[in-house]
Amino acid sequence: MTINPFVNIRIVLVNTTHPGNIGGAARAMKNMGLSRLYLVAPKEFPSDKATWRSAGATDVLDDAIVVDSLDEAIQGCSLVVGTSARERRIPWPLLDPRECGTNVWAEASQHEVAVVFGREDRGLTNEELHKCNYHVHIPANEEYSSLNLATAVQVITYEIRMAYLTASKGNTLPGHVWDMPPADAQALDSYYQQLEQTLVNVGFLDPENPKQTMTRLRRLYNRIRMDQMELNILRGVLTAMQNYVFYTGKVVAKLGLKGDVDTLREAAKLDKSE
Ligand code: SAH
Repeated sequence: MTINPFVNIRIVLVNTTHPGNIGGAARAMKNMGLSRLYLVAPKEFPSDKATWRSAGATDVLDDAIVVDSLDEAIQGCSLVVGTSARERRIPWPLLDPRECGTNVWAEASQHEVAVVFGREDRGLTNEELHKCNYHVHIPANEEYSSLNLATAVQVITYEIRMAYLTASKGNTLPGHVWDMPPADAQALDSYYQQLEQTLVNVGFLDPENPKQTMTRLRRLYNRIRMDQMELNILRGVLTAMQNYVFYTGKVVAKLGLKGDVDTLREAAKLDKSE
């Protein structure tokens, strides 16, 4: 059975303040053939202003799914693209809108995809952006680069439509042939949590002063776009490490020593100096 890629594409708006922008986004989506709108804790919705601005795209608004967190909105998605009006401190793999349209369309025939848009006043937080596989920036005037939210949705959804039209003319888009499905957002998130915990347990990460380590590790793994099998292997590696640390601690404690990370660190230092 062939999947209709349009139904696999979600447009996610995070914490939208002005309901008119929600209506404008719904209209932009429907014009381009998209229908799945997710709203993360909108300030005012449902709203007459949203209905008015949607100019007849009320079906998109009626079917919109309202959730409390970005995690819920991207649950089950194996490609998540975050939009950003400006450069961020830790750069992320970046797409231009055309590449974004091509990738979203190609991957939507295989699995669920989300494109995430931020708040009118301050965009997406770094934490939210770090949940995305790619960032996309609309290359506007550098001195005036922030578009209206619904306008940004229009530009991105237009590029998705252009990718669809290119593909339907028989022109080939870059393929994504792989033997395993990619890991989805939720599986990746729980992997990163397990990784962080393990790094704390083995004494690599100081929970009092974690710096940007986890962000950089997320970015590193993200560049590879792990599949489900690879992620399972890495989870197994972490579990084995955690078991090792746990049982080593028990043995050390049995020998009458304190089996905590500091003791193990001291032991490692002694070992090096011998
Ligand atoms: N002042 C905010 C701009 C937010 S604009 C900031 O500095 O981040 C609201 C949303 O519209 C953004 O979060 C993004 O989703 C989208 N947007 C606006 N301009 C954009 C651009 N040039 N490229 C990509 N997305 C953009």
